[in-house]
Amino acid sequence: MSNDVIYLDCNATTPCDPRVVEAMLPSMTESFANPTTRNHRPGRDAATALERARATIDRLLGGRAASEVVFTAGATEANNLALIGAAEALADRGRHIISQVTEHASVLEPLAALKQRGWEITLVGVDGKGRVKLEDLEAALRDDTALVSLMLANNETGTIQPVTRASELAHARGALVHCDAAQAIGKLPVDVAALDVDLLSFSAHKFYGPKGVGALWIRHRRPPIRIASVIFGGGQESGLRSGTPNVPGAVGMARAMELAADEGEGERARVAAMRDRLEGSILGAVEESSRNGDVDNRLPNTTNLSFTEVEINALLVSLPDLAVNTGSACTSAHPEPSQVLRAMGVPAELAGSSLRLSLGRFTTEAEVDRAAARITEEVIRLRDMPTRMGRGSHRY
Ligand SMILES: *Cc1c(COP(=O)(O)O)cnc(C)c1O
Repeated sequence: MSNDVIYLDCNATTPCDPRVVEAMLPSMTESFANPTTRNHRPGRDAATALERARATIDRLLGGRAASEVVFTAGATEANNLALIGAAEALADRGRHIISQVTEHASVLEPLAALKQRGWEITLVGVDGKGRVKLEDLEAALRDDTALVSLMLANNETGTIQPVTRASELAHARGALVHCDAAQAIGKLPVDVAALDVDLLSFSAHKFYGPKGVGALWIRHRRPPIRIASVIFGGGQESGLRSGTPNVPGAVGMARAMELAADEGEGERARVAAMRDRLEGSILGAVEESSRNGDVDNRLPNTTNLSFTEVEINALLVSLPDLAVNTGSACTSAHPEPSQVLRAMGVPAELAGSSLRLSLGRFTTEAEVDRAAARITEEVIRLRDMPTRMGRGSHRY
């Protein structure tokens, strides 16, 4: 990590764990062959490594058959395959899909594309904590609802959705359930049987694995769940994801999942304690600061804070020593307040001045204390500064 920058953006991505890198190396050098090629031994060895990774991942998710895991380039691709692939395969059942307003763009955008192609999309709202309103979900379900898509945890606020209860409601009406678990794996115990979902997406780089690999888990059942392919070619991954499989990526993702399973419990407690300390320190020291999300149902590593009367881009610029994020599109010329926070009823001004801090495996207590002091210092300084924005003490 760049030496003097404190990295608190683990919901955007995490560094690869050195143990993951170590596990991947042989499949890039010695066992480099194409796993699709079965007519020579190196090819079969690569296939063995790929299938071992697939079996490990399925087992750690609580699945029942390795064939349930389809490797993709990440959660974005898995979400596209789940939504567009299931919609197309299930079109004879109905062309209605339900999701909710605070989903990731990689769910909302495929749904927007499906709408263009004639599907009807219902986006259910959330309450002030960002939790989907289950009674609204229940009311939205229809006989022609083919699919319900609900994220397990939100990337901006860490709010955890009531996926098991939503699955129950959806299944009672015969709809399939897809879950975007990209923010949950590694941060929460994730069990497909307990969640009772049919499709689950995730990305390795969100839990200390490499970038560019993820998977769609597809429940094994009879009759099989039908998913139409969205990428055509050599027919790899049971025809659902053509292209030479990313063997090192799959091996790394399996190792990252093993580490999460072995060490997750202790890590979650340690990270949550640091998150609480960071949050408490800032909220205690900065007047008119508030917390967004659901304190009782949220990821252990995430906090989302709003500061009244602070221009968020000015705050980010004044914190070059911290890698932190905001929900708003802060790189664009006209920053938009976070849609996730707006959907929760957070006023536009507060939603536009929010900071997302996401901790991880390699965060230290010293870093957390330093970050809390720096954020506190800069918020107070910016508020005291006369600005062209008309904020601070020199307002007319
Ligand atoms: C990061 C993320 C994704 C997309 O993952 P990629 O690796 O960028 O494809 C999808 N959903 C959520 C909730 C995420 O946080």
